[in-house]
Amino acid sequence: MNEPIKSRASFARAQELIPGGVNSPVRAFKAVGLDPLFIEKASGAKIYDIDSNEFIDYVCSWGPLILGHAHPEIVEAICHAAEMGTSYGAPCEKEIELAELICDAIPSIDKVRMVNSGTEATMSAARLARAYTGRDKILKFEGCYHGHADSFLIKAGSGLLTSGVPTSPGIPVDYAGSTLVTRYNDIESLQKIFDLSGKDIAAVIIEPIAGNMGLVIPEKEFLLECRRITDQYGSLLIFDEVISGFRTCYGGYQNLINVQPDITTLGKIIGGGLPVGAYGGRKEIMARVAPEGDVYQAGTLSGNPLAMAAGLATLNLLKNSDLYSYLEDLGQYMVKGIKESLVSLGLEYEINHLGSMFSLFFTRKKVTDYDTAVSSDTHIFAKFYKALLGEGVYFPPSQFEVCFISSAHTKRDIDTTVTAIGKALESSMQEAN
Ligand SMILES: *Cc1c(COP(=O)(O)O)cnc(C)c1O
Repeated sequence: MNEPIKSRASFARAQELIPGGVNSPVRAFKAVGLDPLFIEKASGAKIYDIDSNEFIDYVCSWGPLILGHAHPEIVEAICHAAEMGTSYGAPCEKEIELAELICDAIPSIDKVRMVNSGTEATMSAARLARAYTGRDKILKFEGCYHGHADSFLIKAGSGLLTSGVPTSPGIPVDYAGSTLVTRYNDIESLQKIFDLSGKDIAAVIIEPIAGNMGLVIPEKEFLLECRRITDQYGSLLIFDEVISGFRTCYGGYQNLINVQPDITTLGKIIGGGLPVGAYGGRKEIMARVAPEGDVYQAGTLSGNPLAMAAGLATLNLLKNSDLYSYLEDLGQYMVKGIKESLVSLGLEYEINHLGSMFSLFFTRKKVTDYDTAVSSDTHIFAKFYKALLGEGVYFPPSQFEVCFISSAHTKRDIDTTVTAIGKALESSMQEAN
């Protein structure tokens, strides 16, 4: 790997002008004790920094790029759309086409509203749920991320069954009180919290595949219980499928497990790499959204024609393709390779894996929730990360982010990656001793 001389200089300049030098915190590489690489370009499964280093990319823009970087058909769709005007602030037909694809793919969605980010989608879904139920409280699960709206930047208070506490200054204490937090995959705690405050809970919001504490696989019984108990108490169930939507199949993860939420939030993949989010659900719930209803929500660039074109191109490529089975194969092949490396080195770290998503946790505990995820040794992860980067593999720079495989990755890329991981594991072991 070339010394990242230009990246270092750019980072210094960026820090003068942009808080922390980045426009989203995890990009700063703080968790691995490095400076971020500045990217010059990306194509397929590869990403290139401004110091002429090439990496196999498993960040894939944190999830959106299921077809890899700069897919020719998506680029063409965006260019074509741009020539027709970049924004109208008026309806266009592409919005209907994308809405139709989404509603067809996800049976629980009768109507959908496009927004500009996942954050906007979840924030709007919470407002809608509160209006629809006439209740204030939202229940979330520890370790799940739903964007940076005030309601969601809340972690568990003491005992996990109390009101949450803000994870950031600037959030009114009163506000935190209306967010309840409990443990992922824990049916008993869920029941207890509903026993205590079920009648005040507007909605339960959950990532049906948790992808923001590393990858944590849901127990199907747990998701079924989320559905059952919200029905029992007249609360809404919101599936935040911003990551999982169109990731494991053409539709939501809800299609695979056959659990129908009341509201679904989407983002990432449905925007094909452009800034997009969406929320949708049953007709009578969505009827409350302005201007059909009284719950205000708007956006200057919502339904933007370039973003719609990128989303349409992406979903049309995914639809009726065998890309999901290809991605599943690659995922299994990768995990098998990593497990063999671990065994040959006598290491007992945990891997969670689902389709084209995986996380290697530097812990021996089975990772099923936030507590077990944070039992990982982040110092060893940082050493591993640095070594891996040196071998030409670009993982997310945090133990608690998911690695994504795209359809642009090949078995050869995976072979190269597995070899690199083996070397990186070995060197992180040596340094650990
Ligand atoms: C990324 C993400 C969000 C936030 O989306 P942004 O587009 O970054 O605002 C919300 N929920 C989940 C599950 C996510 O992974």
